[in-house]
Amino acid sequence: MTSPSFGSTLPWAEPSWYTGRPTPYYKESHRRLRDAVRKWCDEHIAPHTDSWVEAGAVPPSLYHACAAAGLLVPIASGNSIPPSWAHYPIIGDIAPAEWDGFHDLVLWDELTRSGSIASLFIGLTVGAPPLLKFASKWLQDKIFPEILSGEKRICLAVTEPSAGSDVRNLTTTAEKTQDGKHYVVNGEKKWITNGMFSDYFMTAVRTGGPGAEGISMLLIPRSEGVKTRPVPVIAGPLAATTYLTFEDVKVPVEYLIGKEGHGFRQTMVNFNHERLWIAFQCLRGCRTAMHDAFQWALKREAFDKKLIEQPVVRNKFGNMGRQVEALQAWTEQVVYELGQLSDKDGARLLGGTTALLKVEAGMVCKYVAEECLKIMGGLGLTKTGQGARIEAFYRSVPSFVVPGGSEDVMIDLGVREALKLHRQAEKARSKL
Ligand SMILES: Cc1cc2nc3c(=O)[nH]c(=O)nc-3n(C[C@H](O)[C@H](O)[C@H](O)COP(=O)(O)OP(=O)(O)OC[C@H]3O[C@@H](n4cnc5c(N)ncnc54)[C@H](O)[C@@H]3O)c2cc1C
Repeated sequence: MTSPSFGSTLPWAEPSWYTGRPTPYYKESHRRLRDAVRKWCDEHIAPHTDSWVEAGAVPPSLYHACAAAGLLVPIASGNSIPPSWAHYPIIGDIAPAEWDGFHDLVLWDELTRSGSIASLFIGLTVGAPPLLKFASKWLQDKIFPEILSGEKRICLAVTEPSAGSDVRNLTTTAEKTQDGKHYVVNGEKKWITNGMFSDYFMTAVRTGGPGAEGISMLLIPRSEGVKTRPVPVIAGPLAATTYLTFEDVKVPVEYLIGKEGHGFRQTMVNFNHERLWIAFQCLRGCRTAMHDAFQWALKREAFDKKLIEQPVVRNKFGNMGRQVEALQAWTEQVVYELGQLSDKDGARLLGGTTALLKVEAGMVCKYVAEECLKIMGGLGLTKTGQGARIEAFYRSVPSFVVPGGSEDVMIDLGVREALKLHRQAEKARSKL
């Protein structure tokens, strides 16, 4: 038995369950969320995207509108929403108890479909989870009402000019004052997404000696000594990528996230959801590009035939379609597994898998972006008109490949984690 189809009927333009095919994962509440987010984005985002891209910024009022529409709470939460957040609006009227990893996937799928707007939420989605998972109740009660109401914004600041993949060697210091009431922070962070408009920086700092054990996480409010300047990057200005400087910034000790010395582990746990979420965005990026390329191939004539009548062009679509569907299936499997495991077991068992999933997502994007660009011809290189979304997608691909863990580093991590699990399993078996 199939359900009615939703969205575009072009091949691979939507996930298979949108076309009405059976699914073990998506239920009524996922459909409700999908319909609500698509409607909201079509009404509030789509008509303005071109002018925002041209202006290089999204108006601040939009962030308040997102809060009122119930977008910020799920964006800050990931795969579960705390019951204590039930008094905030949640888009699609999803109850916190209903929310699962597939809602997270649907939410990001639909947000990414609306284009560059998604970059507005990156800081919240990577910066809020450490506050939710590891911070004191006092700090949560103080900060969450501000950031969930859209009044204030947050981002994640880990990378430094001299330490990116190598988080263990970061150099930004946070030294306690003699009275033990404050940390004094000095250092620099680079490529911090949403930093230009953030009020809080979820920051990895060195509170102890060298190596991972000396790293802590500190929430740094925008205050005296915090300076931000834009870093122009390939995908454009809407993500507000930032160079951040801390000069003798005084932060109350109550803003420490968890315990001193736990910052490296907390950063790594946080990366797992970030990598999964990058795969969510890649999936929709590929589908949108395929949609536009298909539309073009059905109408463009060359050598007395429609492009789609050329076997070479059909071959391109077939090769894109099989990769996108395989990526979707793997992503859904990981989302399902994470939903069945505790946070701790999820991080232990799936950290390496998630790293490899992120790599696969980036590789599929590279393939699809290039093939779609070629199908569009000159339009694929043009920032306006029918190829504009493909041109933008092509430029955004490196932002899926390097941030959140660079491809080469992730492949190596995936293999090391797989070996670790193999050794643990062998050891457990030898004890039987
Ligand atoms: C657009 C953008 C947005 C970003 N947003 C944020 C953000 O919001 N917050 C934040 O904290 N950071 C952010 N980053 C930083 C991003 O996470 C880092 O750029 C990334 O982790 C790589 O670090 P790096 O640039 O220092 O490269 P390096 O660590 O210097 O690595 C350079 C290259 O060397 C190779 N390499 C290095 N080490 C290894 C290894 N062990 N094995 C194999 N190959 C290796 C890889 O090919 C790698 O790409 C962002 C970056 C960009 C470009």
